[in-house]
Amino acid sequence: MKSCFICGKEGILIEGRCRECHIREAFRFSIPGRIKVPYCKSCNSYYTNRWKSLNDKLSFLNEILMSNISSNHEIIIVSEFSKKEKKTQIKLDFTEEGNVFKVKLEIRPFPDDPSFDMGVYTEILLSGEQCQICSRFYGGYYEAILQVRGEGKKIESNKTNLILEIIDDLSDRFISKDRMAFIAKIEEKKEGIDIYMGSLSAARKIANELLKKFGGEIGESHKLMGLDRDSGKKIYRTTITARLKDLTQRYAYYREHLYLLDISGDNFKLTSIEDGDILSIKGKEFEKELKKEAIRVINKDLLEIIDLVVTEVTPERYQMMKMSGDYEQFYILREQVHIKKILNAGDNAKAAIVDNRIIIIEQESII
Ligand SMILES: [Zn+2]
Ligand SMILES: [Zn+2]
Repeated sequence: MKSCFICGKEGILIEGRCRECHIREAFRFSIPGRIKVPYCKSCNSYYTNRWKSLNDKLSFLNEILMSNISSNHEIIIVSEFSKKEKKTQIKLDFTEEGNVFKVKLEIRPFPDDPSFDMGVYTEILLSGEQCQICSRFYGGYYEAILQVRGEGKKIESNKTNLILEIIDDLSDRFISKDRMAFIAKIEEKKEGIDIYMGSLSAARKIANELLKKFGGEIGESHKLMGLDRDSGKKIYRTTITARLKDLTQRYAYYREHLYLLDISGDNFKLTSIEDGDILSIKGKEFEKELKKEAIRVINKDLLEIIDLVVTEVTPERYQMMKMSGDYEQFYILREQVHIKKILNAGDNAKAAIVDNRIIIIEQESII
């Protein structure tokens, strides 16, 4: 019987070596018995090259194990062994005990020969330390103050809730990309709302979103707070002031009707300036419609209003004439006129022009 030329053991040989010597030469593998991973329990995040959320335990284990394994084979972690996979496959089995993941790695170095399979154990220890963002968050840190103000001195009180709701939504949305986009504190003051935010860029984005909805202007001021201990750089705190227009100064063109825009509680209140009908639209719904461009908001001073005189009335339509410009005569179907007042020949009327459409409006609504 031949013997292994490395250790001298007798038995079945592969390329002159016994099984043990063969695998020792062909496959090298090591992993530390204990791996420490910085972990923030406040936000369930772990740190490798940056802080990441530990929502998916398998992808967490995958990342930590792969970066701690050293081997001369290409390794892949699989849920089931497969002969088609040419890399060295590892199946995981793990239990959790407190802060420790106890992981069993079942290794198949050669996909077509399970007789070389081996098992290895390791422990992954989540070591508790607060991540930078949580320590800032819980330390009351903020980078910017967003001051929301009304056009006059005060914000209409019914607008405050809607604005806060919008800001909450936006911050939730931004935080998935920028973890500093948290709201550290909200102060409702006589003159408006102050929102303390972890991230200046998020505060700027929110100010811009508010402006898109309400109109108005933004100002920024910076205050030197001191020097950073580590970098020596100057630290500024920024105050962004969003001065929002009074919404009642605006109109909404929606489903071919013209409305006066106002706010009532958490809703937008649309009062038709044709027939006085009131539509109430939830803040979020309104936002959606705005995005789809189904609603158009028009500033009061940008709405084109013309004077008309009714020149003829038939059962189907009115004939009217513009009282300025080219004194053009035109027809308008009676079903397209929604004002409550009945128009007779010789009556004066007013109309708004939106998208080249003439919308007959109640006289009193335009003052
Ligand atoms: Zn041997
Ligand atoms: Zn954290």
